[in-house]
Amino acid sequence: MYDPWRSKEAAFALRAVANATTLADHIQKSLVTPALTKGDRSPVTVADYAVQAAIGHWLGKEFPGEVMVGEEQAAQLREPGGEETLRQVTGFLKTIIPAAEEEDVCTWIDRGAGKPGGRFWTLDPVDGTKGYLRGEQWAVALALVVDGRVRLGVLGCPNLVDGYRAEYKGPGSVLIAEAGKGAWVRSVAGGQFKPLTVSKCKLPAEARVLRSVEAGHTNVDAMDDLVGALGAKAEPVLMDSQAKYAVLAAGHGDLYFRLLSSGKPDYRERIWDQAAGSLIVEEAGGRVTDLDGKPLDFSKGRTLAANRGLVASNGQLHNAAVAAIKKIRA
Ligand code: AMP
Ligand code: MG
Repeated sequence: MYDPWRSKEAAFALRAVANATTLADHIQKSLVTPALTKGDRSPVTVADYAVQAAIGHWLGKEFPGEVMVGEEQAAQLREPGGEETLRQVTGFLKTIIPAAEEEDVCTWIDRGAGKPGGRFWTLDPVDGTKGYLRGEQWAVALALVVDGRVRLGVLGCPNLVDGYRAEYKGPGSVLIAEAGKGAWVRSVAGGQFKPLTVSKCKLPAEARVLRSVEAGHTNVDAMDDLVGALGAKAEPVLMDSQAKYAVLAAGHGDLYFRLLSSGKPDYRERIWDQAAGSLIVEEAGGRVTDLDGKPLDFSKGRTLAANRGLVASNGQLHNAAVAAIKKIRA
C-alpha cells in the first residue's frame, strides 16, 4: 500500500494540499452567495491569495531553501485599494494559522515569485476559477519539478469522490503521484489510499472525451472536428480545472484535449496548470504529450514554451488521438 510518509516531500505536499483545499472550500461556501453579482471575482481572489500564502508559509517552514513558483503575487494587496482583500485573506488564514498577520501574508504569497530552475515547486492555488465561482469543479494543484520533469504531483479536488464522482457536500479527494510509485487517491479528510488506474478503452469510437467548460480555453469547432475524426460517439464531457486529469486517472474518461483557441493561437500552457495532473495520469498508466505528440518540457520557465496545447489519454488511445489531431490540423 502507498505510504507517503516515506518521502518527506510527499508527506508535506499531501498535508499542505489537503489543508489548503479545506480552507478554499470554506471560503467558497462563505463568499460565493446568491447575492454575488455576475462578474464579481472577489471570492476566488481571496481564496487564491489565502491558499498561496498558506502553502508558501508551510513550504518555507519545512523546506526553507526551496524555490516556489506560484500563480499569484502580493503586489496588488500592498497597493491602495488592496486593504479590504488583504484583511479578508488574513482573517480566513487566521482560522488555520492563528499567528498570521497582514505583513506575513504578503511575504508568504511572495514566496511564489521564485524563478523556475533545476528544482522548484509550482502551485496553482485555485485552478478552475470559473468552476469555483459556479460551484462546480476546481482544484488546488502543487507539484515538484526536478530537471524539467515532474517528480511529485498532488491535486485537491473538493467536489470529487474517489477522484471522479461529482459530490458537492463532502470533503472531496486528494490525489497524489510520485514518479515511479503510481497514483493514489483518498478522501481530503484522510483514510486509506486507493490506487488510480486509467481505463482500458481501445476503441476511439467508444472514447469518453474531456474538455474545458470555457470555450476560450479550447477550440470548440476544432473539438467537434476532432471528435468526428476519431469517430467518438459520445459528446465531450465539459469540466473545469485539473479535475479532468483526476477523472482520466481514475478511469472514468479516456481522452483529454487542450486545443489552442482561435483567439489565442500562441497561448502556451502555464506550468502550474499541468504539472500535478499530468504526473497523476502518467502514474495511473496514461500518457500526456502536446498536440504534436512531444513530451511536456517543464524546463522552459513559467510556461510550457516548447509545447503546443496538450493531449492526455489512457495510453491505449494516444496514437489514435495524435493522428486525429494531425488529420484535422488542430
Ligand atoms: P480549464 O479549467 O481546463 O478551462 O483550465 C483553466 C486554466 O486555463 C486556467 O488556470 C488558465 O491558466 C488557463 N487558460 C487561460 N487562458 C487560456 C487559453 N487561452 N487557452 C488555454 N488555457 C487557458
Ligand atoms: Mg489554473
